[in-house]
Amino acid sequence: MILGVIADDFTGATDVASMLVRAGMRTVQVLGVPEGELPRADAVVVALKSRTIAPLEAVALSLRSCEALRRAGARQIYFKYCSTFDSTPQGNIGPVTDALMQALSADFTIACPAFPENGRTVYQGHLFVGSQPLSESGMREHPLTPMTDANLVRVLQAQTSRSVGLLPWPVVHRGAEAVREALHALRLQGRQIAMADALDNQDLLTLGEACADLPLVTAGSGVALGLPPAYVRRGWLQPDAAAASLAPVHGSAAVVSGSCSVATHAQVRHWIDSGGQAVQLDPLALHDGRQGANALLDEACTALANGPVLVYATATPARVAEVQQVLGVEGASALTEAALARVARGLVDAGVRRLVVAGGETSGAVVQALGIRRLCIGPSICPGVPWTEARLPGDGAVMHLALKSGNFGSTAFFREALTMNGAAA
Ligand code: ADP
Repeated sequence: MILGVIADDFTGATDVASMLVRAGMRTVQVLGVPEGELPRADAVVVALKSRTIAPLEAVALSLRSCEALRRAGARQIYFKYCSTFDSTPQGNIGPVTDALMQALSADFTIACPAFPENGRTVYQGHLFVGSQPLSESGMREHPLTPMTDANLVRVLQAQTSRSVGLLPWPVVHRGAEAVREALHALRLQGRQIAMADALDNQDLLTLGEACADLPLVTAGSGVALGLPPAYVRRGWLQPDAAAASLAPVHGSAAVVSGSCSVATHAQVRHWIDSGGQAVQLDPLALHDGRQGANALLDEACTALANGPVLVYATATPARVAEVQQVLGVEGASALTEAALARVARGLVDAGVRRLVVAGGETSGAVVQALGIRRLCIGPSICPGVPWTEARLPGDGAVMHLALKSGNFGSTAFFREALTMNGAAA
């Protein structure tokens, strides 16, 4: 194994895995802290659900994963977080970075959530989502990790005891040697983490080359584009052109959406407006017994006879705030995730074999409910979202899953995913 990745949520894990596969690395994704033998692959991605749990717990899970990856021979560890740097004021990006640096005896690392293909760029340490600073984007109103400051040097510094410096774009633009020199200079100034600017894929390639020898890299999925070519240059990796192929599956199709992100909103709207069948879950109705997960499932299963169905809790920020006022932030999420996971489980029991899930936390809940432990990564539907193949526990049936992070995908994403040829045929 060359690269061991620890991802702080499930969709983030498939996102980074699809980057590695695209660059020819044979990649397997393991769900939860690895137990027993790890699969043989160029890269193993451990998908945790540690973004919004208590920092101590996130640290413990990440350290156990790091240990398993290192035991299996990983040359480099990559801590993957969201391209919108999703975190609470307590973490968990800072605390997990601190713990991994200590475990790996790493005196220096970088931080870089940039993913230019998806409109996430970092300039002077400030994160932009498209043309908007992070703090003016939809992330301002995220149900669990509202991001109200675009200055990531400041955001990260508030979460870590280590000193955070800036690797500015003019240096990145000058290439890998200039970056190495600048990182050395930052080290001499007493910095231990460099927030790296990146505006396009060339910048990611530069960062990959300059950072391939660091014991630890922390980043969104973008930097994963730059590392494989650096491994090839070092003679560690022989790229495999067939790394992203999956056999087709047959069965019905469904979408489960618990994401309230702006992009998912537009996708749910587009699905409904273009005549798609949809069943809406209302957390407050669920709470006071006007709705039940089993009744929602029955409704969705009936709809399946006529084609794909969407089951969604996706709601506006105002509606989410109302729900959270009654149920609390964690209560609202837990109730909604549990109900959507129950519905997803029931849909798969009813023969769904192609399932799209929207939302990072929601994907984690669904995959756990399905008892899936391993995903093989297939072709991309859009940047950051691949089709994946999983074997169901019990009868060992094969199904395809697409786990979509909230803000990814075009408005027609659900339909694009379900009509994609090849893996989804
Ligand atoms: P994203 O990838 O967009 O961040 P997540 O699934 O990670 O999506 O997070 C969205 C969270 O919001 C989940 O915990 C989900 O259960 C919760 N949620 C979804 N719909 C509602 C709603 N109508 N009211 C309150 N919370 C909701």
